[in-house]
Amino acid sequence: MAPFEENCPIPSTHERCAEARYFLIQCLINYHLPQPFLHNLNAFIQSFRNITFMLQSEASELNGFKAWYETKQQEMRNMPALRRFVEARNIVVKQSSLTSKSKVACGLFRGRRMKLSMNADIEPFAETSRLLELTAEFVGKLFLGGKHEQVGEQAGVERTWVVEELGEGEVISKCVEAMNFMLALVEEAHHLLGGASGLKGLSVDMQDFSVLLESDVDSTLPVKWGWVGT
Ligand SMILES: [Zn+2]
Repeated sequence: MAPFEENCPIPSTHERCAEARYFLIQCLINYHLPQPFLHNLNAFIQSFRNITFMLQSEASELNGFKAWYETKQQEMRNMPALRRFVEARNIVVKQSSLTSKSKVACGLFRGRRMKLSMNADIEPFAETSRLLELTAEFVGKLFLGGKHEQVGEQAGVERTWVVEELGEGEVISKCVEAMNFMLALVEEAHHLLGGASGLKGLSVDMQDFSVLLESDVDSTLPVKWGWVGT
């Protein structure tokens, strides 16, 4: 995706969109590294909020924009999840508020789904790979008898990051929903002003990101365990 196309009617808005999208993807990539995750989440929130500021300052004088944007603002006000992001002027997520509602579950997985969870007191800001090491030790002894005979069964850790200020439930799926709404809105603004953004929405399966398995960390394990041929 180019930062903006030739003759873009709203280049600064376009760039803010590309920036917010970038930070959101970084949140997904860093889902299991709490500190980088938090930095990228705050960067996303900030650049997301800047999209509407930029759009209003960049396009307000352009033909037909004002009336169109008023209907869009109304639409955004009627979507509580989105309103939180747009109006999140003062939201800076701190470690304490990130960890207070978030969940970490460790246990035995089949595929990417948890089969048996362990009860454990977990420090939620610990890096997942560290938690996975401990989980693998327990799961290996308790459930697997030191072997990996069942194809697809291994230790894993599943995270669910929740930020109360941004609503109940997993936060990145909320960010993706808000981002996709905003990308569609900015695309519409491009059309209104005689252009096309080429900005694509995101399609995310959270299980691909929220679960970390032993074989995600060490891709040689399935062969070692005899799940696949060498
Ligand atoms: Zn553009």
